[in-house]
Amino acid sequence: MNITFFGAVETVTGSQTLVETTSGTYLVDCGLFQGTESDTKRNRHPFGYDPKKLKAVFLTHSHIDHSGLLPRLVSEGFNGPIYATKATRELCQILLEDSASLQKSETKRWNDKNPKQSRRPLYTQEDVEKTLQLFRSCVFDEDIHLNGITFKFTPAGHILGAASLLLKDQKQSILFSGDYGRKDDILMFPPSPPTTDIDAIIVEGTYGDRLHPDDDVKEILREILKEIIQEKSVLVIPAFAVARSQALMCLFYEIFEQDPKLEVPMMMSSPMIEKVTAIYEKFAGEYRLDQKNAKKVFNSPRFLKWKKESENINRRQGPMIIISASGMVTGGRVVHHLKALADDSKNIILISGYQGEETPGRKILDGEKRVYIDGQKIDIQAKIKNLSHLSAHGDRSDLAELIHYYPENVKVFLQHGEQKTLNNFKEYLQELRPGQDVTVAEHAKTYSL
Ligand SMILES: [Zn+2]
Repeated sequence: MNITFFGAVETVTGSQTLVETTSGTYLVDCGLFQGTESDTKRNRHPFGYDPKKLKAVFLTHSHIDHSGLLPRLVSEGFNGPIYATKATRELCQILLEDSASLQKSETKRWNDKNPKQSRRPLYTQEDVEKTLQLFRSCVFDEDIHLNGITFKFTPAGHILGAASLLLKDQKQSILFSGDYGRKDDILMFPPSPPTTDIDAIIVEGTYGDRLHPDDDVKEILREILKEIIQEKSVLVIPAFAVARSQALMCLFYEIFEQDPKLEVPMMMSSPMIEKVTAIYEKFAGEYRLDQKNAKKVFNSPRFLKWKKESENINRRQGPMIIISASGMVTGGRVVHHLKALADDSKNIILISGYQGEETPGRKILDGEKRVYIDGQKIDIQAKIKNLSHLSAHGDRSDLAELIHYYPENVKVFLQHGEQKTLNNFKEYLQELRPGQDVTVAEHAKTYSL
């Protein structure tokens, strides 16, 4: 087999790996580059192969940095099957439709600013629709035989539906970790990689040089709740619509159950969060909540359906919690909540996930007192707290455990991480197993197994 990395190299976005097997060429993931302008520019670069010649695409999970370029692949002629788990397909419907509408508004903004260099959106809702029709749903742990190859998705424990991919041709087999979860995720079960022999493993290394903090998340949230109850103030949490919002709902639900004195109204203010939560409820049992508990947890907050309703809530007396998207405060309703509430020093803004460079969320976390979002000025007097405990990615020890599950002669390729992180992780792995062949993947370079 030959593998070539066309994304998620020296960065954590834009996952896209070409696999040439004895029976044709396949693609694993086809994600958007996200982040700074020079990152997003890469979404318009020509593909490094002919999309029409791919036999199929395997999609490890729905996150847009793994799935978000699929509609462009389809608009450029790919017409084969896209294999993914059922939950991934359903989440993709929401995420890709949202991505197409973001593409539309970003293109409009660009064209208004650069009338002489006007351009078309990366893709449209029609492209998304065509893409969704190509999905073929798979269940976990089932061998699927195509012409000359066999593949299997195993649970990766990262978010709902997320899978690792085992791919075998007539000669070799390779495991893609996909985004790989942790053993102690709030919602997901620990990953369960395949127990077969493999020749190579492609591992994500987002947290390859770090260990997650192990202090008690609920204790941190309890302290924050006590503070907003005493001050009658508001806790605003910008949160990712997939996984993070549901994990927060679950944590608060459990805290309120254990200690009813801490119960305060919890508002979910984002149409995306509401849609994604409905899918989590539908797939209860695929993660730590069974149907009965999922129903209880996801029906505990109040979902604010209409924008007007969400604006009115800003005038309501605290204590209360508002969880809203987007997670990095780049848009969505969280902007108006912060505009109304961030200038009160009694309120608390809780940052609940990774904040990309140059995003408003990163600026808030860094303590800037005035942040501009889409031309709107937001004054920040509220207290800023950071909860870095909820990552959906495994840390160094989770990833090393995965690699060491297989013998030392298995080749290791590291991707999906900053260069420095992956180099450190490689060093760490080779200290533990000096004989292991570990490669930090390079962009557009082809590796033969
Ligand atoms: Zn992911």
